[in-house]
Amino acid sequence: MKLGIVGLPNVGKSTLFNAITKAGAQSANYPFCTIEPNVGVVAVPDHRLEVLEKMYNSEKVVPTSIEFYDIAGLVKGASKGEGLGNKFLSHIREVAAIIHVVRCFDDSNVVHVEGSVNPIRDIETINLELIFSDLELLQRRIEKTQKLLKGDKSLQSELDILNTIKSTLENGKSARILKFSDEEEKFVKSLNLLSYKPIIYVANVSEDDLIENGGNNEYVEKVKEFARTENAEVVVISAKIESEIAELEEDEKKNFLQELGIKETGLEKLIKASYSLLGLISFLTAGPKEVRAWTIKKGTKAPQAAGKIHSDMERGFIRAEVIDYEELVKAGNMTTAKEKGLVRLEGKDYIVKDGDVILFRFNV
Ligand code: GDP
Repeated sequence: MKLGIVGLPNVGKSTLFNAITKAGAQSANYPFCTIEPNVGVVAVPDHRLEVLEKMYNSEKVVPTSIEFYDIAGLVKGASKGEGLGNKFLSHIREVAAIIHVVRCFDDSNVVHVEGSVNPIRDIETINLELIFSDLELLQRRIEKTQKLLKGDKSLQSELDILNTIKSTLENGKSARILKFSDEEEKFVKSLNLLSYKPIIYVANVSEDDLIENGGNNEYVEKVKEFARTENAEVVVISAKIESEIAELEEDEKKNFLQELGIKETGLEKLIKASYSLLGLISFLTAGPKEVRAWTIKKGTKAPQAAGKIHSDMERGFIRAEVIDYEELVKAGNMTTAKEKGLVRLEGKDYIVKDGDVILFRFNV
């Protein structure tokens, strides 16, 4: 799964991205410092893996992962080819969801490209670029559909949808504020509009605000208010603190979080929010060689879940031996679970659930 990090220059994208990857992407106190989108692959934290690792005495643990793309350089005028141009927009087109970082901290040492901290203006600046780009795409599509309509009247409903979206965008609003029926939504998704992509607004607050006020300040309130209009999620983080956490070893990390009175890292919050935004869940495979988590969409059936592991397993799928993680832990181990009849045999119509521990049987 690919997520794209966007935001105005100097809002803390690189700082967050560095924390994500620890890869040391450039971070500097001036605009335009990052050019190509950097990719950071981050493990999805899942405590169930450690428990299964002990149960099976496994040689290795493989968490599932999320890819973050640092799409810097999206500035006012990008859709007109300004700044580093609209190739950034094409990077955004490829991601499953947008992580929009918004500056919610005051710091006179950090230059703001617009001269002052104002999260709503910043959000709208970026969103407008996406909207402009979508409008161009829509215009072309509308012209094409109008031509085809002469021979195929059934396209009228598509044309209506295109026009509805167009007028929303012309009012400076993102397409995601619109509600569609399931069937309409399929069509709208196929357009791959930037302003219709699922989005999470990341409010980047100062260290003090995160620790002393639980991440609340007047900027964050404004971001939340705006996000509600788009039914979007807000995750409050302090990129500075995330970058400090990223330097620590696992056990030091726990102490540090405890000292700060924080339950989970901003990155963990962000991953959880992304998962639920995209309707993703994890199923698990476990054995002495490897314990592993796999990401699927909610509603995925057993053969397609098997296909995540290997296409042969999907093609030759016979059945799945399934037990819920909690049940397995209660039983203590797989042998006992089987004796107690807790392991179910499921067929090709079984819809895999989060936390299912699965062994697939397949023909080669
Ligand atoms: P980008 O242009 O959005 O990638 O922004 P950077 O991550 O390079 O951050 C710009 C500047 O803001 C750097 O000097 C960072 O150290 C600073 N910065 C980022 N996050 C925070 C924060 O939470 N608090 C403070 N005080 N400064 C921050």
